[in-house]
Amino acid sequence: MRMDTVIIGGGLSGLTCGIALAKRGQRVAIVASGQSTLMFNGGSMELLGCVDGKTVTSPLQAMATLPQGHPYSKIGVDRIATLAERATQLLADTGISMTGSAAANHWRITPMGVAKPAWLTLSENFSIQDLDNLPCKRLALMCIRGFFDEPNGMLAHGLQQLGFEVDKIEFTTTDITALRRSPSEMRASSLAKHLGGNSALQRVADQINSLASHADIVLLPSVIGQSDDDGYRTLKTLVNKPLQLVATLPPSVAGMRMQTLMRHYFRMLGGNYLMGDSAVSGTFDGDRLTAITTAKLGDMPLKADNFVLAAGSFVSRGLVADYERIYEPVLGVDVDADTDRDRWTSFGVLQPQQYFRYGVATDQQLHCLRQGKPVANLHAIGSILSGHDAVKMGDGTGVSLLTALAVADSITAR
Ligand SMILES: Cc1cc2nc3c(=O)[nH]c(=O)nc-3n(C[C@H](O)[C@H](O)[C@H](O)COP(=O)(O)OP(=O)(O)OC[C@H]3O[C@@H](n4cnc5c(N)ncnc54)[C@H](O)[C@@H]3O)c2cc1C
Repeated sequence: MRMDTVIIGGGLSGLTCGIALAKRGQRVAIVASGQSTLMFNGGSMELLGCVDGKTVTSPLQAMATLPQGHPYSKIGVDRIATLAERATQLLADTGISMTGSAAANHWRITPMGVAKPAWLTLSENFSIQDLDNLPCKRLALMCIRGFFDEPNGMLAHGLQQLGFEVDKIEFTTTDITALRRSPSEMRASSLAKHLGGNSALQRVADQINSLASHADIVLLPSVIGQSDDDGYRTLKTLVNKPLQLVATLPPSVAGMRMQTLMRHYFRMLGGNYLMGDSAVSGTFDGDRLTAITTAKLGDMPLKADNFVLAAGSFVSRGLVADYERIYEPVLGVDVDADTDRDRWTSFGVLQPQQYFRYGVATDQQLHCLRQGKPVANLHAIGSILSGHDAVKMGDGTGVSLLTALAVADSITAR
């Protein structure tokens, strides 16, 4: 099978790159072995949240202080604003409607009730523009009886610390009560399957309207809308007060929806999404990668003019650590990581962990290096890249989206 571009990994970065290339008429295949880390995403994208331990309010300004090895520095800080706008538009094209600006972070609320800087947040999710100027006083936090994926006490406490008056209101409906017969069904993804229909939504709305009439804003866990935001829109019209959703613990319904919408859009553009297949090895000819072999296609290698490595970090097995070393398992490209194992981690959960910054080594154009030399037609994008830290710097999703678009530009500029 011969394509213009083959992408290894179908998470946020692989799909973004695939969509951008398919939109420009390329024949693209994405090899996607499994779920991506979008499952952990409660509905926000982060561009840059923290530098040198200081919270970032203006990501575009703070970019200038990043080290040379950071993916944003490699893309070119002067391109970030334009790429960020294009990323927002690409998400909107797929049906993911988000608000926010690269010029100024807003605050997303985690399921634990912590306010974190964010670039974009789903329009339906509760977010705060300015912590010194809260959007309202009284919040009704609707707590679904028996629901596993929202630590309501911590969430309410966090919101109170921010200055809100929070009323925790437990509720159920006949649909939810029926589901509770099997406690394992009380997860966000299961509820989303059962609360989609208009009559089930009406019963949720009836509960909210009878119990939360005093609130300025009603907050409901994000358990609606696995495949689109129609359910939220319907519920909003049925509830008498402004209604917003709050992120739940993973797996997140919002994250699953983003993944599904992007995959559908990529396929609609003619892209080939090889779901459940894995790249296992590559064939090189000098400084070029000529083909990859996948687990399912076996002796039918995927050939292409260009390849993109978007296989994610350790969680997705784009990088692997054993007792001896950290390596990239499919193509054997170079990795930026300490060789001394003792330096990989620091003791203490809240300590910065060095391994978060490890990733594949690339040149300034994000070509992968192999034995120190760039592979001319192989780029890396997203969380497999070295030099950034999604946890400490809050730059994970931004790096995924922006490196994907920058690499799509390089590929189509040839
Ligand atoms: C627990 C957790 C929490 C996070 N929280 C945040 C956050 O709060 N804010 C933020 O901005 N970012 C966060 N991130 C980071 C964010 O999720 C990522 O930056 C971004 O979504 C990564 O996208 P990606 O496509 O690069 O990688 P991934 O999402 O990891 O996707 C890689 C894909 O490649 C597939 N793959 C791997 N190997 C192969 C192979 N050989 N063949 C085919 N497919 C393969 C994997 O199955 C996976 O689907 C978090 C990440 C984790 C793990």
